Amino acid sequence: MRAIFIAVGSELLDLDRVDTNSIYVARRLREKGILTDMKVAVGDHVDNLSWIVKKACQRAQLVILSGGLGPTEDDVTREAVAAALKRKLLFREEIVAELEAVFRRRGMAMPEINARQAFVIEGAEVLANPVGTAPGLLCDEGNCKVLLLPGPPAELVPMFESVYTRHIAPAANHHVVARTFKLTGISESEADSRCADIYRRYRNPVTTILASPGLIELHLLGRSKNSDAEARRLTDELADKLRERLGEFIFAERDVSLPEVVVEGLQEKGLTLAVAESCTGGGLGDKITSVPGSSAVFLGGVIAYADALKTGILGVRAETLKRHGAVSQAAAGEMAAGVRRLCRASLGLAITGIAGPGGGDRKPVGLVHMHLSADGHEQGLRQIFTGNREIVKLRSEYSALNLVREYVSQLSADGGRQTADGKE
Ligand code: AMP
Ligand code: MG
Repeated sequence: MRAIFIAVGSELLDLDRVDTNSIYVARRLREKGILTDMKVAVGDHVDNLSWIVKKACQRAQLVILSGGLGPTEDDVTREAVAAALKRKLLFREEIVAELEAVFRRRGMAMPEINARQAFVIEGAEVLANPVGTAPGLLCDEGNCKVLLLPGPPAELVPMFESVYTRHIAPAANHHVVARTFKLTGISESEADSRCADIYRRYRNPVTTILASPGLIELHLLGRSKNSDAEARRLTDELADKLRERLGEFIFAERDVSLPEVVVEGLQEKGLTLAVAESCTGGGLGDKITSVPGSSAVFLGGVIAYADALKTGILGVRAETLKRHGAVSQAAAGEMAAGVRRLCRASLGLAITGIAGPGGGDRKPVGLVHMHLSADGHEQGLRQIFTGNREIVKLRSEYSALNLVREYVSQLSADGGRQTADGKE
């Protein structure tokens, strides 16, 4: 079964209102293996809307519209769908009576215009709206179901859920297995070029790549008409191949964030962390402290933006700053060691860089040095990140957290380092 979502409302086109209904609906459909082929936003215009509904019914088995069911003149979804399906609009007295009762319960008389909401497309099932006044409609048109839902998300969700349970889920004859890979330390294009030749060979599972600064997600969805086991086998087969290509960058195969993985890892290994931040201005500490339970492993940190704080509090040598500059591997190393000493932490993690927009030739915008200092382990990382100030900061935070993740993941359970042959 294929779906098309039509978000109705002129406000969605140019008044910075965002269509969130389609995200909700498409996610729920995906859980049943129903893929959304297209979503479109259409203004409150009967002819345009009717044209697109006609086209959508020719291509999909499920056409879902949201919005335009209100009582005002600009709410034209009922008229447009009726025209597209060449059906009459019928006035239903009993709906008027229900609407009047709703208003009476609110201590009001029903405004005259709400009677428009009592028009029903011939042959459609009327869907109750327990939250608002606009009833929804469900029409069967040959092989296609056309579902009209109200625009406000609080009204759309319960009505959609009711149709989902009664009509959509039972008709979705697919077994579905979803898998997520979360990656960091790799760009979207690099991730894609490493594995596109594999996932492009598969139409089932479908693979979707999502990128945000410092973070890539791969979503696999395997479907089978026969069994869960077959859907799982198909998904596992592709997942194994992708893991082979991307393994070193994968920090989770479940719905957790990188800071959560880092906090979990530190907890498991009984380690504590302190941070020294320059260009991220506290963002690293913020990411870590967003995780519930982080107080068990995160001791605190120093935001050392000025050189005087780098030397005065963190103990970075003036000589280091003079010779290499504050944005240098040497400075990052001394910041990490300094904060580790100061806070008596197992690990010290430092970031110093040029977030922009001002930068130079030798030290361009986006140049960031990170350093992890631990017992018998010093590791620096130099990166030149692209993006604006906010994005460079975010990427730096994720890269630095990834240093901790990599270090912690190769420690044995009691905190000892594992050697290549697995012995301490
Ligand atoms: P309507 O049913 O067209 O009168 O829409 C009423 C309100 O619902 C709009 O003013 C929006 O605030 C909200 N709304 C409409 N369409 C959407 C959508 N696709 N996603 C999220 N909110 C919406
Ligand atoms: Mg509207």
